[in-house]
Amino acid sequence: KERHPGDREFHQAVFEVAQDIIPFMDKNPIYREKRIFERLTEADRIIIFRVTWEDDQGVIHTNRGYRIQHSNAIGPYKGGIRFRAPLRLSVLKALAFEQTFKNSLTGLPMGGAKGGANFNPKGKSDREIMKFCQQYMTELSRYIGPNLDIPAGDIGVGEREISYMFGQYKKIKNEFSGALTGKGVSFGGSLIRKEATGYGCAYMLEFVLKEQNQRLEGKSVAVSGAGNVAIHAIEKLVNKGANVITVSDSSGFVYAPKGLAEKDVEELKILKFEKRGRISQFAKDRGLRYFSGKKPWAVPCDIALPCAIQNEISDSDAKTLIMNGCRFFLEGANIPCTPEAVHTIMASKRVFIPGKAANAGGVAVSGLELTQNSMRLSWTEEELDLRLKEIMADIHATIVKYGREHDGYVNYKKGANIGAFLKVADAMLSCGTV
Ligand code: NDP
Repeated sequence: KERHPGDREFHQAVFEVAQDIIPFMDKNPIYREKRIFERLTEADRIIIFRVTWEDDQGVIHTNRGYRIQHSNAIGPYKGGIRFRAPLRLSVLKALAFEQTFKNSLTGLPMGGAKGGANFNPKGKSDREIMKFCQQYMTELSRYIGPNLDIPAGDIGVGEREISYMFGQYKKIKNEFSGALTGKGVSFGGSLIRKEATGYGCAYMLEFVLKEQNQRLEGKSVAVSGAGNVAIHAIEKLVNKGANVITVSDSSGFVYAPKGLAEKDVEELKILKFEKRGRISQFAKDRGLRYFSGKKPWAVPCDIALPCAIQNEISDSDAKTLIMNGCRFFLEGANIPCTPEAVHTIMASKRVFIPGKAANAGGVAVSGLELTQNSMRLSWTEEELDLRLKEIMADIHATIVKYGREHDGYVNYKKGANIGAFLKVADAMLSCGTV
């Protein structure tokens, strides 16, 4: 805390991992002796830069851009870019730290990074988005590259924004290389990249339920968010016969007690990805109830799948969910459960799957996009979906292996932290104190 004063979210992320890694180092003192975990609490570097751009009225704006290159112990830096205002550096530090562990779990050679800007894309014209992306990349291009740091999307940054940034990168560097992932499919993007995080969550849920001798079919799932992760998770869950009963955005949530149908999901995709509309409109169009200004956590469900934002499930939300029968908590978003909520969930022996394991499917397919770019070929949707499923199965096996307690209870959080740490830590041991 002395080295990072006031960085609340970063302290939260480090504390969450430390809870499992400190007891592990007690039993494996070489990691403590070489100060591996302490070294991981400082990013390799943090880059902060000015982004000046002109809006459609000719007014000039100045924003702040960031890139945090957290660790390249096991591969080049890799992590998303977030456009959101306000945007605290502490949040990005937390996410970059988490990303190092998540990327390790995928089994692919990728280090951890995160970036973004305090730019609010809402209400901006397409031209303004393009201008901002270009100006952001003009500066960022100095620090990234296919063997150095490969950014991807995150909140506020989807295929459109990545493609504008890729265009600018290509122009500045005068080369066509896989320096960004999440690009359009016709110019180097991977099939199922945009679906991968959400689909991966659904696959993980299936593996976890199977482990617990249960089935996904017929289970009620409360989902938050209506973005890239939420909608693709909903799509796969509905396809697999789960009852998805909520969807939300920052203005409120929609309640569908009988579960969304495939037709509803199609409409939702058009509304959010093509028309960039609000879910209040979705409720109106589909005749569903809409709760303005509320989160979906008071609704009875078997499974909670938060897919919106950090700290969206508070301790009292977790208690309400448990009281209403929720038995499984799977983090689709990054750190959506507060530390108090995680404690409550685990103390009541409910199943908790942390984001670094649950939502790793997106970065995994980003890793596969990089491979395709290097090999100058494109895998089919079926091949990629199969690889995604295999990667999620491997992550599940890892977190069960390191998370199983003596009494048979699986502490998936511990399993994810230790499984991820080991690979990074061993690489750091081998490379010495660089
Ligand atoms: P999107 O920008 O596509 O969607 C975010 C969704 O969350 C929107 O529906 C947004 O609503 C909602 N939201 C934002 N802020 C709040 C809030 N304060 N309260 C309630 N809802 C809110 O982002 P993604 O789907 O890509 O990302 C969602 C989460 O998943 C993030 O935590 C991200 O870091 C994580 N993640 C994303 C990956 C990816 O591949 N995209 C990979 C792994 C993790 P509104 O439109 O009103 O703002």
